[in-house]
Amino acid sequence: MSQQPVIAVVGLGLLGGSICQTLTDLEFDAQIIGVSSPRSTQEALDIGIISQAYQYHEIGQVKVQADLILLCTPIQHIFSMMESLAQSSEPWKPGALVSDVGSTKLEICQKGWQLLGTDRFIGGHPMAGSEKNGLSARDNTLFESALWLLCPSEDQSDLVQGSLLEKVILTLGSRLHCVEAELHDQWLAQVSHLPQLLSSTLSSETFQSLPDSLSVAGPGFRDMSRLALSSYPMWESIFQTNSQQIIQSIQNYIEKLSQVKEIIQSGDWQSMDQLFDHASQGRQQVNIPQKGWSQNLIEVIVRVQDQKGMISKVVVPLTEAGLDIRDIQLLKIREGSGGTLSLSFSSIQQADQAVELLNQIGIQSQIRGII
Ligand code: NAP
Repeated sequence: MSQQPVIAVVGLGLLGGSICQTLTDLEFDAQIIGVSSPRSTQEALDIGIISQAYQYHEIGQVKVQADLILLCTPIQHIFSMMESLAQSSEPWKPGALVSDVGSTKLEICQKGWQLLGTDRFIGGHPMAGSEKNGLSARDNTLFESALWLLCPSEDQSDLVQGSLLEKVILTLGSRLHCVEAELHDQWLAQVSHLPQLLSSTLSSETFQSLPDSLSVAGPGFRDMSRLALSSYPMWESIFQTNSQQIIQSIQNYIEKLSQVKEIIQSGDWQSMDQLFDHASQGRQQVNIPQKGWSQNLIEVIVRVQDQKGMISKVVVPLTEAGLDIRDIQLLKIREGSGGTLSLSFSSIQQADQAVELLNQIGIQSQIRGII
């Protein structure tokens, strides 16, 4: 009988706890061990999502038995765990891999390759999370349909395919995509770190200079300032480990905003029209993957009436027909006039079937594309 592989999850917080919970619920064929503070490991043992517990200083005992070590702590602590693993005199299990879930990648990958070796460390970043933290916030649907970015170096291209790491990511329900670490940080600076800073700055500046205006703020301001509710500690290490790319994104934004100011000052409304047109085209590209992306979802757009129980009228027949809705979003609804629902399916056949079924029961729908 072949032995079960051993997966060590280091840092039993939101992400680490969710990984253990999901793999346990799905009865993934592996022994899951947890490395965290005594309080978290005891709780994880009590709820049965790990079978063995270790403290951070016992990482050597973990190194010797793990086939896969997933570092799920804050970024600065990921660095210290990589140092502890490198300093431990215990041998690695043959073929063992180490990965992480940190939100920035170049510094982490460089440190991982240098300390643990390019045959051992592959940086990762699941694009899933929430504003909550700690083990109690764990969620066994957190990674479902989420993109999980891996950043192998050039000489690591063979390490991912068929690995236990790949199996775990796919079992969690995520969509795996490989991207170079430097490009990851450039992209994330632009589409995650800059929006966070813009949202925080907008909210803070409005609160400071014109606080009474907040009482009339509508959905636009609410959408733009939602990220201002984020808690700070995780962001500090993101700013620390991706400062160059973030500064570049801020610089580009300042230049663009200056152009916008000049357009208004000069009354050049044709240029403003072009800007809005260009911006709208950009917005429509959100989540449309580039060539080479795998495991995409197919999005179906459904027009719904503003009536009680409308969402179940859409969802129930689809699930009864055995269709697997991988994601659902209410894009827009206005009282009295209905709205738009976005449903995602894992294959074009499922999406086609959903559209046919909905149209048969008089609910207008169409395939919008791949997301
Ligand atoms: P979390 O819920 O706070 O969990 C992190 C766990 O790490 C804590 O529960 C804690 O467990 C342990 N830890 C060790 N040293 C720590 C320290 N100095 N400060 C705080 N906790 C420490 O955080 P998370 O959201 O799971 O994030 C973990 C990693 O995922 C981070 O590197 C983050 O960049 C990345 N990430 C987060 C999100 C998100 O939206 N949350 C998304 C993608 C990636 P013990 O108390 O047991 O030590």
